[in-house]
Amino acid sequence: MTTKTAAMPAMDVAPRLPRLRERLGDAGCDALAVTNLSNVGYLTGFTGSAGILLVTPQESVLVTDGRYQTQSREQLATAGVDARVEIGGVAAQLEALATAARGLGRIGLEATDVSWARQRRFGAEVFTDAELVPTEGLVEGFRRVKDAGELARMEAAADIADAALAQVRDLLPDGVSEADLALELDFAMRRLGAAGSSFDTIVAAGPNGAKPHARPSARPIEAGELVVIDFGAIVDGYCSDMTRTLWVGDLDSEVAGRMVEVVAASQAAGVDAVRSGASCAEVDGACREIIAEAGWADAFLHSTGHGVGLDIHEAPWVAATSTDTLEPSTVVTVEPGVYLPDIGGVRIEDTVVVTSDGCRPLTKSPKDLIAT
Ligand code: ZN
Ligand code: ZN
Repeated sequence: MTTKTAAMPAMDVAPRLPRLRERLGDAGCDALAVTNLSNVGYLTGFTGSAGILLVTPQESVLVTDGRYQTQSREQLATAGVDARVEIGGVAAQLEALATAARGLGRIGLEATDVSWARQRRFGAEVFTDAELVPTEGLVEGFRRVKDAGELARMEAAADIADAALAQVRDLLPDGVSEADLALELDFAMRRLGAAGSSFDTIVAAGPNGAKPHARPSARPIEAGELVVIDFGAIVDGYCSDMTRTLWVGDLDSEVAGRMVEVVAASQAAGVDAVRSGASCAEVDGACREIIAEAGWADAFLHSTGHGVGLDIHEAPWVAATSTDTLEPSTVVTVEPGVYLPDIGGVRIEDTVVVTSDGCRPLTKSPKDLIAT
């Protein structure tokens, strides 16, 4: 299987800049300097590793360096994006931004992305006549709701991850190490057409699994141990995210078996709670209640889930303290877990697309994978 992005619906990139421009007034600024590269990519189709996009009422200017001279113009043209590209070294880029910003009173910066040093430099050298306004989540707000092209890419990424797991699971009974299984998964995803892994693949067996984000070790996986496998693929910039907990033979302890049952029930309840209009806190509560009833409230060490898209973790946040509400075509994970230091961990995670009356899972690997 290889991914054929050409056969997927196109992403609707061109309307994104005008949509953002309409929101700038509400955000208290005349223009926005977009420094977060995922946001730059979302708004323009540009996928380079450096660049700043200034969105003013009159125009949009993307500044980047010579490595991206051809790529940036090609990508913006392909996306049908109406923005000017300025290529040069850092000084020339900042000069181009200063020129484009001349006469603007209030320029928004992305507060969660701009370092203190960069903010000072913008104020002192670039946007010298303007008031700098901190903004949060402006572009991220648009990114929550995915269009058909984005969903197709996320589904392709999830399909690759499903196929990769099916290919490598037979290595488990052979005493493969955590690190080697992670490597095989990464390799399988690349061979199946992924651009890469959406984050460092987690394979954590036995006591290592009690650490939710353990790094894979060279230790061979033994029969009877819980094995937490958390991984994802990237297709066309879009991530997938899935966790399965597997084991070989019979589980070492009754407690481990009970953990699997409880987390599976919790995860199913969370997925059942996902629908348009549901609050993220409600979804978290649906998962948490079942784990608390089993007496493991303190062993559920993280929130229930997160949005996924261009970033592996993005808005909305599926947590007890979240004030977010789910909308159609938002993509979130549901991934409760129980972690007991003496035994290990169980986490089960699906990535789902919110629909008007429920949700549609993108990740489809079986959950009862007992490798023999
Ligand atoms: Zn994950
Ligand atoms: Zn996740």
